[in-house]
Amino acid sequence: MTESSRRSSKFPLRLEHMVRAPKTWVGPAVEANDAAKSGSSAAPGPSTQARGRSAALQAGNSSARHRPAGLGLDSEDVRRRMVERLRVGGPYHAHVLDALASVPRHRFIDAALVTQAYEDTSLPIGHGQTISKPSVVARMLDVLMDGVTARAAGHLGRVLEIGTGCGYQAAVLCCLSRHVVSVERIKGLHDKARDLVAPLRMNQLRLVYGDGMLGHPPNAPYDSIIAAACGSSVPESWLTQLAVGGRLISPVDGATKGQMLVVVDRHEGGYQRTEFEAVQFVPLKSGSI
Ligand code: SAH
Repeated sequence: MTESSRRSSKFPLRLEHMVRAPKTWVGPAVEANDAAKSGSSAAPGPSTQARGRSAALQAGNSSARHRPAGLGLDSEDVRRRMVERLRVGGPYHAHVLDALASVPRHRFIDAALVTQAYEDTSLPIGHGQTISKPSVVARMLDVLMDGVTARAAGHLGRVLEIGTGCGYQAAVLCCLSRHVVSVERIKGLHDKARDLVAPLRMNQLRLVYGDGMLGHPPNAPYDSIIAAACGSSVPESWLTQLAVGGRLISPVDGATKGQMLVVVDRHEGGYQRTEFEAVQFVPLKSGSI
């Protein structure tokens, strides 16, 4: 088997492969970001398997209760059609499109809005926050896949996401990565994301409640860092937690220029910053609530 065929058989990891029932259920590891709370580095907390299992069952039951039936949204065809529409605005890495085709976006959308789940639109997820447009998710992941380490590996390696929101993008990232740490500052959203990803059984996903402006030192360094919220600059902590060969992508509010996507590559000799197109994201805020 060649190196590239071996890679392509592993990445992207399709959801169907990941949800194959394990003998023992292991839910997404969830921890409080003690570093954010006490200002000191914290070792990762224990995974919460028992709580995860019951969350999975509850989430499964509650989605059965509240999701409108008969809309055909569980069909992979619906997701494939969304991807076909996205392809027009591409080109995107095939792995990115496959990842988007694998994750059921409608399961992350409130029932009242679920019919819009596969439109290229951002939607409210509660607490004044929004789930990003699929085309923006595709664009950011596509740019990340062009980082030095990601290009060589064919996947995003160890990933830090700032802004879990409802957990949708974290789930997509899991299809493209070895390990994903996703940090959310709003407890209500962190809990919601934990419940929504539980049925997907993504063992390589760690959801952290805390201030993502501090990054997440216990799992650093990261090959890929992605922010889903916009600050006035890229926090120092993200730069120091980026591995050599790694790539970071984040919206940054350049005041006069407005919000734009910024990419930072870390090389042996330092950092290289590149500005991309204008975007619109919710604000990056410090502290957790
Ligand atoms: N990727 C998400 C979209 C989240 S919207 C999804 O797929 O749903 C951006 C999120 O960033 C919001 O949930 C907001 O609360 C969070 N956020 C803003 N500042 C943050 C910070 N300092 N640390 C962690 N999360 C933050």
